[in-house]
Amino acid sequence: VSRYIGIDLGGTAIKHGVVDQKGTVLTSGSTRTPDRGREGILSCMAEIARRYMDLYPILGIGVGTAGAVDFARGRVLGHSPNIPGWGDTPVRELLLERLDLPVAVDNDANCMALAEMHAGAGRGCRSAFFLTLGTGIGSAVVVDGRLLRGAHSLGGEWGHSTIVHNGRMCACGRRGHLEAYASAPALVRRTLELARQGLPSVYAELSDAAAGALDSEEVFKAAAAGDAAAAQALTETASYLADGIASAVNLLDPERIVLGGGMAVAGSPFVGAVVEEVRTRVHSAVTPYVDLVTAELGNRAGFIGAALLLLDSMAGTAG
Ligand SMILES: [Zn+2]
Repeated sequence: VSRYIGIDLGGTAIKHGVVDQKGTVLTSGSTRTPDRGREGILSCMAEIARRYMDLYPILGIGVGTAGAVDFARGRVLGHSPNIPGWGDTPVRELLLERLDLPVAVDNDANCMALAEMHAGAGRGCRSAFFLTLGTGIGSAVVVDGRLLRGAHSLGGEWGHSTIVHNGRMCACGRRGHLEAYASAPALVRRTLELARQGLPSVYAELSDAAAGALDSEEVFKAAAAGDAAAAQALTETASYLADGIASAVNLLDPERIVLGGGMAVAGSPFVGAVVEEVRTRVHSAVTPYVDLVTAELGNRAGFIGAALLLLDSMAGTAG
């Protein structure tokens, strides 16, 4: 048995565990993300790794992180708004100084895709398209069993594809991107907008503070309970999402499409609506092959995939 440590760095928590080469989790845990910047995070990761290394023989450590990552160099690029001090960090180099083990680093969407390919909703597939709906929209592409990274490790950013010409402002500073229409914050914003425009809604008279605290889970509940603004916002979101997915399907003709994140709940009317709309949007030749499912591994996918990252990079089957 080969064992790897997977570490998934998020803005509030670091999820981690020991994973074997099949993606089976042997042990796992969660640690609060330290707020002491780069050094604090790296020390915390090294501490987590050493604890596991005392328990198991470990072949390597994989790190998944939000934002743009240069996979070849094991380096986080740019700045990380959710994790102060983490941007532009040579993670592999700095972890190698602390731990004498191979280290691989990639973005969280690629890690999620690897985990689902090995041990989740993408099992048995050779090609798949992954979309994670959360605060942002993460995406990843697997073709012929390999993650598609592109010339600069920056490929697969489908959340920032333009679906509306000169449309809503996206968090990235450009307009009309899928993320500005189908992320969790976009759904909440649209619900409040429709409620204030007069659609019958429990959110019509919401204070600014209460509106700021509203999350997508509550919008889903409100829609199920018959709230007109929430229901309308969900219908629109499913429609925009289907636009984005259909374009990707036309390009890739994937064996399977995997939707992850809190908004993708198996069997929900929302996912059902997305599937139906994708079928009506793709090129008609592809329609019979649209196979859209929800992710299976939830928030464990990040650290599981991070661990597998290393297995894959060493085996040469990905990246
Ligand atoms: Zn964008």
